[in-house]
Parts: sequence; structure tokens; C-alpha cells
Amino acid sequence: MQYTWTPPTIPFLSNNDQFMVRRVYCIGRNYRSHAIEMGSPDAEPFYFCKTSDCVTPCDGHTSIPYPPGTSMLHHEVELVVALGGSGAALSAEQAAGFVVGYGVGIDFTRRDLQSHAKSQRRPWTSGKNFANAAVVSKLLPSSNIHAFARGRIALSVNGERRQDADLNQLIWPLSTIIQRLSTINRLEPGDLVFTGTPAGVSSVQPGDHIAATIAGLPSLSVEITPPR
Ligand code: MN
Repeated sequence: MQYTWTPPTIPFLSNNDQFMVRRVYCIGRNYRSHAIEMGSPDAEPFYFCKTSDCVTPCDGHTSIPYPPGTSMLHHEVELVVALGGSGAALSAEQAAGFVVGYGVGIDFTRRDLQSHAKSQRRPWTSGKNFANAAVVSKLLPSSNIHAFARGRIALSVNGERRQDADLNQLIWPLSTIIQRLSTINRLEPGDLVFTGTPAGVSSVQPGDHIAATIAGLPSLSVEITPPR
């Protein structure tokens, strides 16, 4: 038996375990400050997906080429939650038990394509789904739903702070994210959840260096290289 491709994996910190990525769920507008900057201050958070091949694991530093089709590539720093349970219609308590690890992620977004899709009332796929659109740090193994209920989340470009907030500003806390998601999709081991980004999203260009941090998690350093 030969498989046609190898699914992306993300290494865990401090052992040789690998998290095999099944699906990538993302939460939109889960910080009030970002909802305001996107012009929808009263919007309820919601879900969208990226395909798993968007995932690029980052052990400290990585380089990614500027993606095709855009002239407005935006960074969104996010807490990423790795799930290890199988189930649907979970209670908040059951949802909490699905967490197996945490990482720092950048939800890269082709904002011009996303804005065009919004104006045409079309799906966001062109804006959100492309190679390297979901960079993720090594995962800290943890089953504690409260481990990252608070703490600084920040991103800088070329040393200049662009995003700076606290995880306690999430509109939907992690148990709510997982519980609500489980009402519309059966969750499975290997699912990743990007939990939303705070205010300060902005464009990056080839040659830019991005540093993304969440207190208690491995930092991300990403260089944007010229288009390939
Ligand atoms: Mn996002």
C-alpha cells in the first residue's frame, strides 16, 4: 500500500511525538478590538476552515515565500489549540477534555482577496487558503483548558510592535469555542483550532521579519521571502 501524500504534522515540545493535522478550524472576530478594526464591532464570532496543507510547522524560525495572487498579505497572531478527542455535541466540560496541546500560530490572510470575496458575498477561501497560510509553532503538551486563559499575545514586524493584547480578551473562551464547534462538526483527533486575532493586523512585504509570541509558548520567527 502506498499513500498518495503525507499529512502535515506538528512536533510536540520536549518529546518525539508528532501531532498529525486533520483539519484546521479558525475563529473569526473573537477579539472585540479586531472586530472593530474590520468594521463589524457587534459581530458574533464564527468559524471558517483552512485545508490542512496550509499548515507549516515552525521550530523557532522559518522562511515562507510571499504568496501568489495578492498585494495585501496580512499577519494575524493567534493562540492555536490542538485537539485529541472524538465527539460531537459536547458539553463545555467535555470540550475542555479534548485539549492536548497549545501553540502560537499566524493566520496569514490575502486581505485583498478576502475583501473582494466579502463584497461579492462569496466564500473566503481565496483569502484564507494557500500554501503556508497557517504557520504553527511546536506544540506545548497540555490538557489544561485554563492554561492559556490569560497571558500576553503579541506580534512585531521588523522589531516594530503591531499586535499586543491579552488572551483574556477572547470573546469566546476556549471551552466555548470547542463546545460550539462540536455542535456543527464532529471533532476528531488531529483537529487544530486557531482561536482568533486581536487588533493590529497589517501588511507584510518580502524581506520582512515577523516575530510572534504568546507568554509560555515557543516564539515564532518568520521571514517573508520573494515570491517563488
Ligand atoms: Mn484569524
